[in-house]
Amino acid sequence: MPGFFGAEFIEQVRAASDIVEVVGGYFPLKRAGASFTALCPFHREKSPSFHVSPGRQAFHCFGCHKGGDVFRFVQDYESVTFVEAVQRLAQRANIPLRYEDGRGPDPTQHVKETLREMHEQIATRWQSALSGEAQGEIARQYLARRGVTEEAVRLFRIGYAPDAWDDTVNWCKSKGYDLEVAAQAGLVVKKEETGRFYDRFRGRLMFPICDEQGRVIAFSGRILQGDEKTAKYVNSPETPIFTKGKVFYGLDKTKRSILDAGFAIICEGQLDLIACHTAGVRNIVAPQGTAFTSDHARILRRYVEEVVLCFDSDNAGQNAAVRVLDSLLGAGLAIRVAVVPAPHDPDSFIKEQGGEAFARLVREAPGFFDFHLDRLCRQNDVNSDRGRLAVLREMGSAVNKTGNSVLVDKYVQKTAVRLGVSSEAVRQEFRKLKPAPAGRDSEEVLAPGGEEPAVTARPTQQELWLLRILMTSEDILPLAAEHLDLSWVSHGLVRHLLQLRLTPLDETRYPSVATLMGSLPDEDSRRLVSESAVDPRPLPNPAKTLLDLLTTLR
Ligand SMILES: [Zn+2]
Repeated sequence: MPGFFGAEFIEQVRAASDIVEVVGGYFPLKRAGASFTALCPFHREKSPSFHVSPGRQAFHCFGCHKGGDVFRFVQDYESVTFVEAVQRLAQRANIPLRYEDGRGPDPTQHVKETLREMHEQIATRWQSALSGEAQGEIARQYLARRGVTEEAVRLFRIGYAPDAWDDTVNWCKSKGYDLEVAAQAGLVVKKEETGRFYDRFRGRLMFPICDEQGRVIAFSGRILQGDEKTAKYVNSPETPIFTKGKVFYGLDKTKRSILDAGFAIICEGQLDLIACHTAGVRNIVAPQGTAFTSDHARILRRYVEEVVLCFDSDNAGQNAAVRVLDSLLGAGLAIRVAVVPAPHDPDSFIKEQGGEAFARLVREAPGFFDFHLDRLCRQNDVNSDRGRLAVLREMGSAVNKTGNSVLVDKYVQKTAVRLGVSSEAVRQEFRKLKPAPAGRDSEEVLAPGGEEPAVTARPTQQELWLLRILMTSEDILPLAAEHLDLSWVSHGLVRHLLQLRLTPLDETRYPSVATLMGSLPDEDSRRLVSESAVDPRPLPNPAKTLLDLLTTLR
């Protein structure tokens, strides 16, 4: 088992964390026979296929096939590691954390917790400076001018860092925080020559940046007054709790809407995101403090299969759209592009035209390649050979990146029509741009959306029945252990799982289904176990069914 908790401690936490109560604490469950059901939180659906079994202490979705024990649920639902899931459930059950072999808590974990605590507290401090102090007036006026509602200020926990060199320094002292640690948190800066500390954020509107669980891990500070030379935004540096390029602004508050909508809108800044959110368009994120990275793309891929890039009509924004193409395609995301008409950015567009107009803009956003072709034809003189060739090359190299021959073919046709040339000529030109494959293996890696990888064979119906009987009944295990010869089971994974289930812990006990699942490292095995264990269909006479099955398997 991964992590640094002992098996005994993990089982203690498990015993105190009834899966129906834990899941029911996140969203309502409905009783259905021996189990409970709900709309699946991991995929979009209209009728519930998500089942939780109190008897087996397991969950399984018969739609998307996610399944596992209570730790797995918290891991997947909260996007946290196994260790964090154990910590959360232990805290929920008021069980003091106990680490393996007298080993203390991981020291880096302790530093992270201190840094998070500082961030949480200073966020609160800056919130009250904004709402309640005279010096916050300049920030309040700015927010009023930008039309940011009080509700949004509260929800996004916007604050004000007073215009002083020692406000945060003094705050740290008053709270008993070591200034070296505050410097590590990026809240203050140490002047090397003098060894003195000063505030990083001075006279700025403060946007807390949260991780996916909503914990404050960094800040972005916007300037409120100053000359041209002052940076518009000052962001937290990288710290043990904050890695640039891996965090989205707003995702903690919008992930539910993103799942519901089935796609994510990517916008450029915090104020754009807040304006959209306030206008009711909530399936939106903004990459934080950096350009869009392939890590960003991978994070989004956990939630959706499609993104809509939302950019200003200026060229800088649209060039950015083309630059992020590689990351998005690499993660297997479908892309559309919504261009906000000049002279607007999303914020000003919504203020003038309303949220519904913005939602329509997003709904009707063209696919990336249509957008790209359109733009190339406007940028180049398509009546000249030179212009047509430029369009062909740009278009070809972009479409080739998908490695999807159906898509390539579609844009061969479209490009040919736009340029008034034969599709055969376009096809040849596109082909020339294709890098020569370096061998079969690398070709496969580079071809998202190509052929699907071979699916490992499903177990037979009889093997699935066998698994179900053994996973849903404890009483039957001695009988099965006596009569079942595992060599009769031809499916390797099923055989392995049955063996684990039938290996007694001691004289009288077999491993519980939940414990068994907790010990399985791979998703395929877990799914197979949770699917069998949570199956809601009744199983009237397991002993007889088992013996009948064994006769046919033999
Ligand atoms: Zn599901």
